This record gives sequence, structure tokens and C-alpha cells, in this order.
Amino acid sequence: MAYNKGSIFVNRIELEGVHGLLESEKVSSQPFRIDVELSGDLNRAGQSDALTDTLDYEIVVNKVREVILGEPHNLLEALAYRIAKSINEVLSDSKLPIYSTKVKVEKVKPPVANVGSVSAVQELGVPRLTYIGLGSNLGIREQFIKGAIERLPGFKRLSPIYESEPLGGPKGQEKYLNAVAEIDFDGSPEEMLRSCQAIENWANRVREERNGPRTLDLDILLFGKLEVNTDFLVIPHPRLWERNFVLAPLADLRPDLVTEQKSIMARGTVSKLDNMIL
Ligand code: ADP
Ligand code: MG
Repeated sequence: MAYNKGSIFVNRIELEGVHGLLESEKVSSQPFRIDVELSGDLNRAGQSDALTDTLDYEIVVNKVREVILGEPHNLLEALAYRIAKSINEVLSDSKLPIYSTKVKVEKVKPPVANVGSVSAVQELGVPRLTYIGLGSNLGIREQFIKGAIERLPGFKRLSPIYESEPLGGPKGQEKYLNAVAEIDFDGSPEEMLRSCQAIENWANRVREERNGPRTLDLDILLFGKLEVNTDFLVIPHPRLWERNFVLAPLADLRPDLVTEQKSIMARGTVSKLDNMIL
């Protein structure tokens, strides 16, 4: 699919709220103007023309309203942050390819002489629960796995480590160490891929033959609920559901994602290394 980077703007949401540091601002409401920019890949929405491929403006406006009409805040920075956070909570759990939310909150009539308006902007990446498959069958395998989790942005937890027989590729390869890492990543899938490749390069990964031995392989298995299909990236990973060395550790972290039958089958073909300390 073609390169696309787009933004949706929901501008000039006008509401009265009780926010500010001054005593006068704490007792009576004043007008605020809010602009929201959602950035990401709008290719699908551009082609489908369907509301289900984008974020309904109503949701944005409701989130803004909740914060501005809600509990008092001292700072515009805090208001902008709260609004961006609460819009991102919706996006984190959605299939929409929106990767950051920028919110500008403007005090339209600030209680300061000679100042026309004051505003603050906050831009927050949309965090998505992301699963990375790790594999190593060359060199100091556990050191490569350990180094990778130290470098993965937003790392949360690692599955148990498994050992598996290499599939395909040249004969005589060493066994693999495999694991799955759960991370909270707040960028685009392309940025995630670049981070993975940078970490593979740190491990001196050399790309020679297909399925050949590697110091470190990092595959993006799942990226929130997003579906990606470009020349460089396919998410969910296309071979995820047929690879036992991925299914076993993924089932350890997320038993809800792998059927009981599949996880039993997968665990039967790989060995869990209970005593491995990284
Ligand atoms: P392998 O298939 O053995 O993992 P590589 O690690 O060399 O091979 O990856 C080859 C290419 O696969 C990468 O350059 C990347 O662009 C592409 N790719 C497609 N989808 C994914 C994904 N979900 N995770 C990681 N790489 C992917
Ligand atoms: Mg790979």
C-alpha cells in the first residue's frame, strides 16, 4: 500500500470551564478553545470513505467536554495532557492507524493585562500493547535476548524462554532460544520496525540466506489491534499462528489469545528452559 501520512483536525471546540491559578479563576468559569490533531495513516479512510475507518469527531468532542467541564485544573498544560490521554485511551484499544494526538488548549480571555490569549500544546503518542517475537541461534544467545529486552522501547515483561529446533534454512544450525516480549509502544508500526532493526544491528545481525542462523531476530507479532499490510510490514505476523516457538511463549503471556488446544500442542514441540537466568 502507498505511503500515507495524514491528520484529522477537530478545531475550535469552545467550552466554559473553571480552571486556572488565580483566585478569580477558581470561582467563576471562563472560555476555553480547544484544537485537536490526530495523526497517522489515513489511507484506508481515504479509500473507503467509511466512518468505521476513522475516529468519530463526536468521541473527540465528548472527551474534551469531560475534561473541560470536569474537575478544576491549575494549568493549561495539565488540561491539554488530560485531554490527549483520554482520547488516546480510546485509540489504544482501536483498530485505527492513528499514532499521535496533539491537543491545544487556549485561554481565550486570560486574566493578564495586555495578553490576547494563552495556550499550551501537548502531543502524546498512542500507546499500544505490542508483542515482539525474539529468536537467537548464533553466539551468546541469552546475552542477545537480554540485550534486546534492555533496548526495546516500552518493555513491560518477557515470557519464559524456550528452546526450539531450527525450521528450514541450511543444515547443522544450532537450536534457537525463543521468547516473546510485551511492550507498550507509543509510535507507528514503521517506527517499531526500525527499533527492531536497530536492535538486530546492535547484535551484529548479518542477513545472508533465508532462514539462516542469526544472532537476533525480532518480529512484530501483534501491534495493539492494528492490521498492517505493506511491502515492508505485515501485522499480525503472517506466520504467527503456525509457529510453535511463538505460540508457546505468547500463550504464557496472553492465554486469552491462543486456544487451549493450540497452546498444548505448541508446548509439546518446544522445551521451556525454566532455569535460564538472563
Ligand atoms: P525473517 O522472516 O526470518 O524474520 P527478516 O528478519 O530478515 O526475516 O525479515 C525480513 C523482512 O520482513 C524485514 O525487513 C521486514 O521488512 C519484513 N517484515 C514484514 N512483516 C514483519 C513483521 N511483522 N515483523 C518484522 N519484520 C517484518
Ligand atoms: Mg525477522
